[in-house]
Amino acid sequence: MTTKELMALDQQYVLGTYGRNPIAVDHGKGATVYDPEGNEYIDFTSGIGVNSLGYGNEAWAKAIYDQALKLGHMSNLYYTEPCALLAEQLCTRTGMSAAFFGNSGAEANEGIIKLARKYSYDKYGEGRATVVTLKDSFHGRTITTLKATGQDMFHQYFYPFTEGFLYATPNDFSDLVLTADDTVCAVMMELIQGEGGVNPLDKEYVKNVAELCKKNDWLLLIDEVQTGVGRTGTLFAFQDYDIEPDAVSFAKGIAGGLPMGGFLVSEKARPTLGPGTHASTFGGNPIAAAAALEVLKTMDDQFLLEVREKGNYIAAAVANMRSGNIEAIKGKGLMIGLQMIGADAGQTSQALASRGLLTLTAHGNVLRFLPPLTISIEEIDKGLAILQSLLGA
Ligand SMILES: *Cc1c(COP(=O)(O)O)cnc(C)c1O
Repeated sequence: MTTKELMALDQQYVLGTYGRNPIAVDHGKGATVYDPEGNEYIDFTSGIGVNSLGYGNEAWAKAIYDQALKLGHMSNLYYTEPCALLAEQLCTRTGMSAAFFGNSGAEANEGIIKLARKYSYDKYGEGRATVVTLKDSFHGRTITTLKATGQDMFHQYFYPFTEGFLYATPNDFSDLVLTADDTVCAVMMELIQGEGGVNPLDKEYVKNVAELCKKNDWLLLIDEVQTGVGRTGTLFAFQDYDIEPDAVSFAKGIAGGLPMGGFLVSEKARPTLGPGTHASTFGGNPIAAAAALEVLKTMDDQFLLEVREKGNYIAAAVANMRSGNIEAIKGKGLMIGLQMIGADAGQTSQALASRGLLTLTAHGNVLRFLPPLTISIEEIDKGLAILQSLLGA
């Protein structure tokens, strides 16, 4: 099918909830994708932080193939090996106590909100169910996670929303202290806000919030759906923050392109969710878990070091362009935001795509890069040359 035919078919039959770019992607290798006509695009998006090992990764494909032949799915009423091995990897490499597996980021965040509410209910009874989240956060598209999201534009149309959220200004500890009341059971945050504009939280701020949580017996919930699984140059972003979260959600990059989400819990929070309290039919699916095991196997210390190095390389090159349209470079590892000025990030992203570079945007006129973590220096240079040709001084 040509791009034109595919666009017409999609527009006829797929519900139009996405503002798609006028580009069809047929296949890929490394961090490069190709349309049906064979045109090449350097990919600085990795499917919004999903294809952590890039496209056409043979070890990943083989892990999926082998597992699909052996056992494609089994219910959670029985034990399956990939799920157990994956939980072991995640816990031993983070110091967390146990894992729960689901299918998406929003579902993972719903899970940790349920965890916090039940933890508090078990210990203190009703009336202590509020979760404080941060302004400009993004936590998902279900009715509850939309309300958890600290951006008013997401609190429309779908009334009534789930009650029990308060919003504090990021990096302003006194605002969080003022915002929280005696109904609070948890604080939930991204350590680098992704959709909200690639805004990192200060280490001091996060430490203060963690201490306040401990003092009040509020659970500290970290949304690592975007920052997790190597994206920022450590396996999870919280490992660079000197905190001990009670729950950490993950999704996007975990299985390298198969749908999987989930969360890790601390020793303290672990007893809260016993048999019958939470479940997912597809959760811990053997194929998705086998793919995730391959992702984690790839992400050794050397790999994570290279993620940090490649991130620094991109940031330095962008700074070197001395573009009048780039006000600041934000982020960490291969989660990078360019604060645009005098140019619209959305239009810039479209212009880059037509020149062969795929990029994302984020709230607040930010051009966002989330390339596959395996991207090569040659591919980075090709992408940067396209950026330079459009925005360079
Ligand atoms: C993408 C994202 C989500 C939602 O994940 P889905 O898989 O789309 O449900 C939640 N939190 C953060 C931080 C995200 O980046």
